[in-house]
Amino acid sequence: NPLTTELQALDSAHFLHPFTDHQGLARKGARIITRADGIYVWDSEGHQILDAMSGLWCVNAGYGRRELAEAGYRQLLELPYYNSFFQTTTEPAVRLAARLSELAPPVGGRRFSHVFFSSSGSESNDTNVRLVRRYWDLMGQPRRKVIISRINAYHGSTLAGASLGGMSGMHAQGDLPLPDITHIQQPYWYGLAEPGESRHDFGLRAARWLEDKILEIGPERVGAFIAEPVQGAGGVIIPPDSYWPEVQRIVDKYGILLIADEVICGFGRLGHWFGYEKFGIRPDLVTFAKGVTSGYQPLGGTLINERIAQVMVEKGGEFTHGYTYSGHPVACAVALANLDILEREDLPGRVRTDTGPYLAQRFGELADHPLVGIAESCGFVAGLALVQDKASRQPFAPELAVGMLCRKHCFDNGLVMRAVGDRMIVAPPLIMDCGQIGEMIALIRLALDRTLADLRE
Ligand code: PLP
Repeated sequence: NPLTTELQALDSAHFLHPFTDHQGLARKGARIITRADGIYVWDSEGHQILDAMSGLWCVNAGYGRRELAEAGYRQLLELPYYNSFFQTTTEPAVRLAARLSELAPPVGGRRFSHVFFSSSGSESNDTNVRLVRRYWDLMGQPRRKVIISRINAYHGSTLAGASLGGMSGMHAQGDLPLPDITHIQQPYWYGLAEPGESRHDFGLRAARWLEDKILEIGPERVGAFIAEPVQGAGGVIIPPDSYWPEVQRIVDKYGILLIADEVICGFGRLGHWFGYEKFGIRPDLVTFAKGVTSGYQPLGGTLINERIAQVMVEKGGEFTHGYTYSGHPVACAVALANLDILEREDLPGRVRTDTGPYLAQRFGELADHPLVGIAESCGFVAGLALVQDKASRQPFAPELAVGMLCRKHCFDNGLVMRAVGDRMIVAPPLIMDCGQIGEMIALIRLALDRTLADLRE
């Protein structure tokens, strides 16, 4: 196809891709995605691909939603842009802030009264660092600057986002983390538990790494702990049930703010509007992005609990922080229409009671495959570990790049499944039905078989 050839040449000459090995890309040429509908995307060669990653964890409502396009179009004609800096505001931004505040269940009797908007998860986490520092300054405790995060967390690509994140490769290339950001180990039972250690015991032990770190730094210097309810880009790390209650107890004990990064977990992904509901935690700040517009427009932000908002509004004066596109009216209009869809079709409820449990069952069955050490899911995120030896949980040598091999077989079979090291992960659009779950599982099984055949060659 001449279009493919032309675009691939232009792509390789001019487009520096995010998180991509360009030599590998140059050898193969980029796949040009041309259209999408429901849970499928198509490339310029006409191949249909089941998008089990919802784009990048964002297309919660699925592709091809005309009403989202129409909401954007109407807003573009009416008022394509105005800022919220000049003591000005716009109707979509106000309505969305109020709606999100309404949608997010209160925690400990306190509402999420305010929203600070940005255009992405990364920017929102930068905002969080500023909010935490500002809050503690206003509270007369300016030494509380340290933010604790977790190894393998992903919190974005800006300097603060990448510092909060616990990806060693990102730190190495960026001379990061920035000062006053530090990390503890992730609650990855399958990979980190002692032999014979139960999930429950491991969850408590993993939570107590937070307390150890707080005591090491000095509680009077710790401002916040940030974590994803379920770690997504780090490989879909589902914490044991004992983990979050113990973390909550610890942050309460030392009066430390809790930031739930719900860029992936929010908007139905775990079968609730927000992941903090599922785990019964009480965050002070909630980062959101992605699913708020189902990816149809770039939009992110932070839900701010009254505990912080009151101080910011009543004592704070001017908060010297903001983005040109904070509360962009077109993005907010699309978000409102997207929330209508999620609500009308009760996609969070469907994932919680219907398709999520079915996915858990079918995905869990993959654990019978000779390559799979564990296969588990939570709502509509799922991950499996490829191992060399199931009994000892021994991983493959990293240079074999078994995850990438499996990912290649997925792609070749018409399935987008992501590899994080040797963890293979999916996060399908929330509209995926049980038949389509079956189709996805069959494609995964085929890729696993082909990977096994390659390894035995
Ligand atoms: N936080 C989490 C948990 C994420 O998964 C991501 C992106 O994948 C981000 C933050 C960064 O969001 P963005 O890519 O919109 O900047």
